[in-house]
Formats: sequence, C-alpha cells, structure tokens
Amino acid sequence: MPDDDRVYSYSAVLMGSPILLKLFSHNEALAAKAFRLIKQYEDLLTVNRAHSQVMDINLAAGRHPVAVSRPVFELIRCAKAASLLENSAFNLAIGPLVKRWKIGFQGDSVPPADEITTLLTLTDPTEVVLDEAACSVFLARSGMEIDLGAIAKGYIADRVRDFLRKEGETLGLINLGGNIQTLGSPEGGWTVGIKKPFGAADALIGSLQIENKSVVTSGTYERYFERDGTRYHHILNPRTGYPLDNELDSVTIISMDSIDGDLWTTLVYGLGVEKGCAALRTRPDIEAVFVTKAREIVFSSMRHFHFTLLDNRYRLTG
Ligand code: ADP
Ligand code: MG
Ligand code: MG
Repeated sequence: MPDDDRVYSYSAVLMGSPILLKLFSHNEALAAKAFRLIKQYEDLLTVNRAHSQVMDINLAAGRHPVAVSRPVFELIRCAKAASLLENSAFNLAIGPLVKRWKIGFQGDSVPPADEITTLLTLTDPTEVVLDEAACSVFLARSGMEIDLGAIAKGYIADRVRDFLRKEGETLGLINLGGNIQTLGSPEGGWTVGIKKPFGAADALIGSLQIENKSVVTSGTYERYFERDGTRYHHILNPRTGYPLDNELDSVTIISMDSIDGDLWTTLVYGLGVEKGCAALRTRPDIEAVFVTKAREIVFSSMRHFHFTLLDNRYRLTG
C-alpha cells in the first residue's frame, strides 16, 4: 500500500518482531524476497527454537565442535571479539543467564543469587573456541550457550540493505523490530523517531533525520518485568549476571552498519553517558543519543544526523 504517492510499505512478523519495509517502487515480489532472506538468517541464528546452527553449537557444548556456514562463523567471530574488549558489557556467551531469567518471555523470574554465581562460570567468552579452517565453533564447557540476540537483527538489517542495493533499488528502509537500516536518501532524509521511555507505544521524545544510515535503539523499557517493586530489564551485566543498572533509559546509535549500532548500544549501555562518549571519540563513524532517567538527552556528537525535540519535558544537555 502506498503511504503517499511515492512510498510503498510492506510488513511481516519475523524473529518475534514486527518488520516493516519501505520502498519507493511498487514491488511486491522484491518485498517477499527480502522477507524470505530475513527468515533464512533467522533460521540460522535463532536460539528460541529447537534447531538452528547456533542451537546446534549450544546443544554440542562440552562435547564436540559444530561446523557452521561462513556467515554464521564470521558473525560469531565478530561477537567474540566484541566480548573480549576491555570492560565490555557485551558477551556472546551470556546465553545461560538469558535463558534462566527469561526476561520478556513466559515464566520470567529472579534467580537465586547462588544460581547466578554458578551460571556466570558458564559465560566465559574465551571458552568459545573457533576453528577457522574447519569453520567450526566449540563451546568448551557443558551448559554453555551462545546468544546472538543483541546483534542478530543488526546483522540481518545490513544483509537486507545489501540485497536491495544489489537488486537495483536506490531508496529503501527496513525496520527490523526497532533496528532501522536505510538505503539512500529521499528528499529531506529519512525521519526516525526516538521513543519516549515507558510512554505510550507511539509517544516520541524526538526524531532524527538521517541519510544512508542505520539507527538502533536499545532501551530498558523494551522488555522487562517487575517483581516486588524492582524492574528487571533484558540487558544483563555480564560481570554480575543482573540487569545493567545505570542512569540510562535508552541509547540510540547512528552508524553506517546496523550491526555496529546493535553492538554499540550494548557497549555504551554498559559504559553510561560519560565513558560512552569517551569511547566513541575513537569512532567518529558511530554516534550515540543517550536518554537518561532524569529526562536528559545527550549526544556524543552530531555529524551524521539532525535532531528535532518533540517533548519539552526532556532537556538537551552536554
Ligand atoms: P532488542 O533489539 O531485542 O531489544 P538488544 O539489541 O538490546 O535487544 O539485545 C538484548 C538481547 O541481547 C537480550 O534479549 C539477550 O538475548 C541478549 N543479551 C542480554 N544481555 C547481553 C549482554 N550483556 N551481551 C550480549 N547479549 C546480551
Ligand atoms: Mg537489538
Ligand atoms: Mg543490541
């Protein structure tokens, strides 16, 4: 269906998320192919089903290596490298804790402290053993589990952008359940909203104008549960095994590749505003918009986007 006389929107539900594709041509067949591509990657990477290449690695933990396809191997290699960065909040081996907390899924509960301590011993990223020649992955300890939930959508959003470009499209936007990747720039750029944390589904505190960039937001308001007056959200601190606790309600990353956006939302979530901004000084291609619990909006820099404030209860600082 055309939104206006130029934009056609196509939607689907994949990866447990609503997916929206916008094209500047009426091309049902192309949209169907893009959705099929997403499904193929989901089938390789998911840990929310009995089988996928990643699940096969997890099921063989402590027993034997599993040969995987080259893209899966490369993604795991990238995730391991990010996990080994100094003080990284990202850990690809966080699976046993994610599965135990079940945050955002049926049956969520706060695990006893001693159980968290035990599960933490199963999350050492150096025990994810990669064999380049065999293109295989081995989890050294029984009970270990890889979880690519924090970067899979970003990786797949990039593959959809590449696919659309290869098919000759010059303008397109894919929204993979909150991971937005764009191809080209329509007049005035693409407008992407930043949600009001814990607000109504369509409430925005601001909007970004971007061209040819990815926008990824990670927020503590996205998936969480409350127990005895405490809120537990879905981004875990790999050192404590509990949800990351800091001054932030959300982080939005603007970058060329959506995988960087997905990865850096987790990395800077762990760092907080000050250290997050400092870390990004070495990466001028990656920019962050922090939204704090005190209703402040802070930019690490503002080279690749324009920002419009839409809710004046929030203040721009920094
Ligand atoms: P979403 O896009 O689904 O909102 P994020 O990109 O913020 O999610 O990633 C959150 C998901 O990443 C969690 O649901 C879990 O599967 C996984 N995860 C949670 N904590 C970590 C962590 N410290 N490192 C890596 N992955 C994590
Ligand atoms: Mg994500
Ligand atoms: Mg992420």
